Amino acid sequence: MAEQDGKYQDYTETFLPKGGHQRSEKEHPDDLDNEKTRHMNYPKDLVKSLSLIDKWEFNVFDVSDASKQRPLTYVLYELLKKYDLLSTFKIPTNVLMSFADKVDAGYRKHRNPYHNPNHAADVAQTTHFFICQTGLLNWLSEVEVFAMIFAAAIHDYEHTGTTNTFHTQTRSPLAVLYNDRSVLENHHVAASFKMLQDNKGSNIVAELTRDQFEEFRSLVVDIVLATDMSQHFQQMSQVTDALNNPKELDKVKVMALIVHLADISHAAKCWELHERWSYALTEEYFRQGDREKELGLPCSTLCDRNTVMVPQSQFGFLRFIIEPSFNTLIELFRHIADHYIAKEDAALNSADVAEKTEGSPNRTRRHIVKCRLGTSQDQGDALYPDYTYANVVARLEESGKKWIGNIESNRKKWSALAEKEKATASPKDENNKDSLSTTDSTKNASSDSADNKNENSNNNTKEKNSKSTKSETSTKTTAKDNEN
Ligand SMILES: [Zn+2]
Repeated sequence: MAEQDGKYQDYTETFLPKGGHQRSEKEHPDDLDNEKTRHMNYPKDLVKSLSLIDKWEFNVFDVSDASKQRPLTYVLYELLKKYDLLSTFKIPTNVLMSFADKVDAGYRKHRNPYHNPNHAADVAQTTHFFICQTGLLNWLSEVEVFAMIFAAAIHDYEHTGTTNTFHTQTRSPLAVLYNDRSVLENHHVAASFKMLQDNKGSNIVAELTRDQFEEFRSLVVDIVLATDMSQHFQQMSQVTDALNNPKELDKVKVMALIVHLADISHAAKCWELHERWSYALTEEYFRQGDREKELGLPCSTLCDRNTVMVPQSQFGFLRFIIEPSFNTLIELFRHIADHYIAKEDAALNSADVAEKTEGSPNRTRRHIVKCRLGTSQDQGDALYPDYTYANVVARLEESGKKWIGNIESNRKKWSALAEKEKATASPKDENNKDSLSTTDSTKNASSDSADNKNENSNNNTKEKNSKSTKSETSTKTTAKDNEN
């Protein structure tokens, strides 16, 4: 194939958080020494971009630009504040800030185009959306909410910008340490807990009781390990199975699945965001391919910048992996609403009738955790989502339409781009093309084909198939296999 450098726009420079930027007390909005009376004094642009924090349309790049590339710090602060977790778990603000700085630094370590603080902040915010806007919150405890947000924030901590395959192929120290199994995911979670342990001033879980900590840690480990894309089909089928059979949902698996889908959710966001994330990840793959060439290793299937056809493979990935996953997610949220919120409404209504209570809109529900809408900058009375069954179902419908609508429209855009690319490719190129799915490199069901040789030999066929995508066709096979 002809030299194709520059075939795709390289968003790296606009995307990558600036390296070596250190927060100074002056430019940081927080008065760390005065945590009791501290007031976040956000710049205007930041207030504006953060005002979308409860919405699907949240744009992390805007927050990044407005915060001098510190989106993770602000998003984490806002999220923990929303659920009142800072006071519930006695987290001093300066400890949270120090923690956020350390996590942020971990994400900058390898200067990745994709796996950087923007991605972490984005996944944390999307996880929050799923918790707060779907009724899920009604089902969760404080420790569970905390674990989900924490896990989302650290789920790619110290990501090396290379895939699990690359680690095993190069026999990296991490691959040796974790026996080639979910190498990166094991590292993200282990390194995060080690960082907490080694830095008292950053330990945001120091005040949890022993029981709370044990539960929290176990949840975080499960959730982060489940972001390994090689687990995708197994996870989806377990949840589908529970939905189709009248059995109790496994709450931990549900929580893990939700963070995993938040991890790959940009495909269900608007084109502007999805395209930008896609090409950022493309560039990260290509850099791995460059390194593989330098090392004299075979180029991983999706990492050769001279042969990869992005639009075509994205089309297949959205059609056969993202779309079914989000359809299942919608079903899952509806199931939770039907089984937890509907029952509760019924119980409350009958209690109301029995007691003949008049006009008690604030009647106490089994509502353990509250989520305050808006940001810490909002003045006036706090607003909370309405979790009555009818409202949850209506909002769920609205969200579902948005997700599926975005996926369809993104897919059409990739399809058009693929056609265009095909038309300009020479016949020789046709034999040499290599499609790519760019949703999350090491987590990508379609990306880690070589992992088949290296990962857990207990992987079932579906999982193996899930990683063997060479083109849209095999993505299709994978998806079909999974439906059986
Ligand atoms: Zn990720």
